[in-house]
Amino acid sequence: MVIDPKPTVERIRFFDVEEDLSRLSENEKKALVHCIAAAKIMTEVYQEQFDQRIKGIREKLAADTSERAQIALKYLNVQGGPWDAFNEERPFVEGVGERPKGINLYPKNVTKEAWDRWLENHPGDRVAFESPYTKIIRDGDSLKAVSYSAAYAEPLERAAHELELASEKLDAGPLKMFLISRAAAFRSNEYRHSDMEWIDTDGTPFEVTIGPYEVYADQFLSYKAMFESFIALPDPEATKELQAFAEHVPEFDTELSKQFGYTPKGAAIPLEVVRDVYRGGEAAFGRMFVAYNLPNDRKIHELKGSKKVFSRTMMEAKFSLVGRAFAERVLKREDLQHYQFRNRLLFVLCHELAHGLGPGVRMAGGREVSFEILLRELHSTLEEAKADMLGVSLLRHFAKKGLVSEEELLGSVATEVVAFVQGWVASYTEAHAKGSLIEYNWLKEHGAVSYDVENGVFDIDPLKSLDAMTALGEEFMKVQFEGNYDKAKVFMERWARVPPEIPPLVERLKDLPLEVHPIFKV
Ligand SMILES: [Zn+2]
Repeated sequence: MVIDPKPTVERIRFFDVEEDLSRLSENEKKALVHCIAAAKIMTEVYQEQFDQRIKGIREKLAADTSERAQIALKYLNVQGGPWDAFNEERPFVEGVGERPKGINLYPKNVTKEAWDRWLENHPGDRVAFESPYTKIIRDGDSLKAVSYSAAYAEPLERAAHELELASEKLDAGPLKMFLISRAAAFRSNEYRHSDMEWIDTDGTPFEVTIGPYEVYADQFLSYKAMFESFIALPDPEATKELQAFAEHVPEFDTELSKQFGYTPKGAAIPLEVVRDVYRGGEAAFGRMFVAYNLPNDRKIHELKGSKKVFSRTMMEAKFSLVGRAFAERVLKREDLQHYQFRNRLLFVLCHELAHGLGPGVRMAGGREVSFEILLRELHSTLEEAKADMLGVSLLRHFAKKGLVSEEELLGSVATEVVAFVQGWVASYTEAHAKGSLIEYNWLKEHGAVSYDVENGVFDIDPLKSLDAMTALGEEFMKVQFEGNYDKAKVFMERWARVPPEIPPLVERLKDLPLEVHPIFKV
């Protein structure tokens, strides 16, 4: 059934983003303009990956002056497609049908059984089929992998050209090198080299993240990456403070590696705090990310690590325009004082740092396999929840080192409980929200958090919560380390269910702001 998007649109907090570019030189500004042009092309490619009908739907809605059509158009620009990710992926445009699990990256109606059977009979196809950078099509009775560079050759060539023009305006340095190698990757479909060069970019003179990255949209197998782009300016003061934390991560990783028996990376993790200039492709739609850890290629994690980028713009917007309203509703009066931007920032920082921790690959059938391949569609949820829980252990480690105060440590727990509820109002199935279900059920079972039905607020025991979260982090490490799909599935079925007290609460919070959506003035 097609839903009316109006009530949801009214709960989106739109806000303008216009960064001051005066710190850039004239040539840097010219380079930025070319990067923004390339970033905008990522939206075209993304829509092609998502559903080929989107362009036509947009044109049809734009031509229709009725209020309903105009609201649907506004919401199409929030969601990126005609399905409402904040409402169990239900369609809000007539005639589009259900969202295909594999969107436009797999043939219609291909089943997991057919997929497995094909790979059993065609083992030589496995690498291309499991690649994040191919789409799968039907070719007569056969299945066939087509590289992104071939499938989206025309827009990717335009984007490559813009990146090269940008590189010509920049002085020698990591960003210039990355722009050149990423342009080459758009043509060759070989992303590893430029992904590694991206880690060396340090957000100066500005941050450019562009290419196929996340696999969340692939609800069929979680293999295929969607194109996106993020252009931002550095926040040097905040970056410096966070780097001080990062220096203590390797010693934590070493402790963890002894416990679980893997080889620690031992390298400091590069990170940046930035302010948004532009988002394109997947980054521009649905939930706005506040931070990310890239690249996702586990092999690169082993070889070189990863880089973390934090969007101060989006963290502040979400905190003040959405989060505060939730905190006021679901926290007890004495816990509300802990709902501070600083405490949330620390939690998010540690979540992102924790994504890079732990083992990444294991041997299976005589070859090295990443966990995401073994754990399939369960991986995204497990990885997000792992990052939350291992992040808490990391925060405790920082507290022990005196980098974080006891009050900040305890206060961050309250901000996470608020974040659970915020996620569930949007969805129970999205990776982070589903991960939060595991966390909440676990905390509840361990007597650390309970929902006071009468007063509609959560009772939080922060000390018990910290211990329970640490223990759950260890569970996630075990599940990932084993890489056993069936066992992981049993774990998920046990912990990721929606507890009965939550839907009535979520129902009562349906008047609160749901998400922020930036309007970029470039
Ligand atoms: Zn995450």
